[in-house]
Amino acid sequence: MGSITCKFGGTSLADAQCLREAAAIVNADPNRRYVVPSAPGKRDSGDIKITDLLYTWHSLVQQGLDATQPECIVAERFEELTQELGLTLDLRERLAEIRADAEKHKNPDYMASRGEYLNGLLMAELLGATLVDPVHYIKFDEEGRLNPVTYDLLGEALRGEGRFVVPGFYGSLPDGSVKTFSRGGSDITGAITARASGSVLYENWTDVSGFRMADPRIVPNAHPIQEITYRELRELAYMGANVLHDEAIFPVREPGIPINIRNTKAPSDPGTMILPARTPKAPVCGIAGQRSFTMFNIEKTLMNRERGFGRRVLSVFEDHGVNFEHMPSSIDTLSVIVNDAELANHGASIVKGIEKTCEPDSVSMTGGLALIATVGMGMAGHIGVAARLCNACARAGVNLRVLDQGASENNIIIGVEERDLESAVRAIHNEFAE
Ligand code: ASP
Repeated sequence: MGSITCKFGGTSLADAQCLREAAAIVNADPNRRYVVPSAPGKRDSGDIKITDLLYTWHSLVQQGLDATQPECIVAERFEELTQELGLTLDLRERLAEIRADAEKHKNPDYMASRGEYLNGLLMAELLGATLVDPVHYIKFDEEGRLNPVTYDLLGEALRGEGRFVVPGFYGSLPDGSVKTFSRGGSDITGAITARASGSVLYENWTDVSGFRMADPRIVPNAHPIQEITYRELRELAYMGANVLHDEAIFPVREPGIPINIRNTKAPSDPGTMILPARTPKAPVCGIAGQRSFTMFNIEKTLMNRERGFGRRVLSVFEDHGVNFEHMPSSIDTLSVIVNDAELANHGASIVKGIEKTCEPDSVSMTGGLALIATVGMGMAGHIGVAARLCNACARAGVNLRVLDQGASENNIIIGVEERDLESAVRAIHNEFAE
């Protein structure tokens, strides 16, 4: 077998015991040669993540306020880790540097990245591995997009014998300054490292044994997903299933490196395999839902004969800088569904814009909509899936306000009242879990 990249999330590295468990997992397989740590996360529900403390620290310093509290907590947590793990590493000098740098950097990225950097130093000593600081190898362009030169640069740095630790979450801009990915971005570093190192597998170690068919907060006994394709996962992640950062798939998709989501607290669980392709055994793979959507309903008699009507409607959204999610239509009506965060306070102005640009018979806006995606490549060509889904919702007393199936037949989206979200997800899960 070829080499493996292992990424460990913040909760899997929250204290000394967690770090020991992570090291034991790495040491259990000599193929686990590339290790990507997050910053230490929460030890319990009342705790604060190191990354959050670093953001607070930076913001206080920038406002000229006293930052002693976050600074001390960060220092204490790292000192405790080095001591409890019996490491020789002396982080005092590094922490003093960070303290001095906090003022220099207007942008929080440098500060935010220090949690991963310090944890990377700890992991490297713990594993007897070489630290590869991504600031020199993971490159962004001026617009903050990943520069593909990264793969060669990092690949070169990861050549040679032994193990390597690549701290997650950051790289650098063309001027050499630190830039982070968006929150949870160590997953992306893991995927980049897997590709750059030519790994045959990207293991993403976290605090759950992979994906479940539905959010376990809604369906406590939700069925575990053993296999899922990159594409199915994209659809579910888009609708709120968030075990993995949704951009983590891109680096590994092209070379087809599988991602295995694993649980550090149950290392023998097989977890979920995210694969380029699979042979589906069941029509539905997962269900994910989200609240907070608004639907614009536009009516105009003989709308279907009016050339350019849809374009004019959408141009109003475009002029307001608002993206839309779905656009179900019938002969005389057309609806546009928008995410509330995206819509912000543009609603009334968009209604006015549509009245003026499209002269409809009526236009109204209703909020409080939840969207639910039922995803599975096994649905294509499978007769009766939509019928079962609708019946399950009907039996649960849920009214469907929207029903939309893309041409790929891999995803059926329904829109329901927000208060029905949970019953609908439960009903669909129970109908399709096998
Ligand atoms: N530590 C960063 C965060 O909290 C990145 C990560 O954990 O992936 O977002």
